[in-house]
Amino acid sequence: MILLDHKVVETATASMRTAGVNEAGGVLLGFRRGPHLHGTIATVPASRDRATPTRFHRQDPRHQEIALEAWRRSNGYVDWIGEWHSHPGGSSIPSRVDLETWTQQVGRVGTPMMFLIVSSRQMGVFLMRPREKLPAQLQELDRASEGIIFGYSSSATEYLSSP
Ligand SMILES: [Zn+2]
Repeated sequence: MILLDHKVVETATASMRTAGVNEAGGVLLGFRRGPHLHGTIATVPASRDRATPTRFHRQDPRHQEIALEAWRRSNGYVDWIGEWHSHPGGSSIPSRVDLETWTQQVGRVGTPMMFLIVSSRQMGVFLMRPREKLPAQLQELDRASEGIIFGYSSSATEYLSSP
C-alpha cells in the first residue's frame, strides 16, 4: 500500500498550475515500511529543469540536494521513493517515455518505487517493481487525516495494458 500525505498532492497540484501549459515534476521522498511506501515530500520544479507541454526533464541539482538533506536529517529514514510529474490538460495515463523512464529508475534503485501523475482532471498512482515490465495502477482505498491511502482494489489487480 501507499500512503500519500495530502501536502504531497497539494504541492504537485499547485506546481502543475504554476507551470501553465508546461509539465511540472520532481522527486517523491518518504519512508519505506516493509512493502509499503509513505510519501511525505514532493520537490518542485527549479530553474535548471527543462519543461515542455509534453516532457519534464528533471535536471536541476536542487532535487537531489533536498533529498540528501532530508536523508541526513532523518538519519537515513527519509529516502527517494518515487517521482511525480504533471500532464497539464491531459490524462493521468503514463506515456511510453514515462514507462521507459520508470523502468530505468526502478532498475537502478532495485526496490519498488511509486510514481504519481497529476492532471487537471485526475491523479494516477502507480507502483513499479524491479524486473516488472509494467507498473500496477493503485486505487484510492481510504482518506485519513494525514493523507490518502492507495492500494490494490479488492475486486481485481489492475495492470496497465501495453501502450
Ligand atoms: Zn508523462
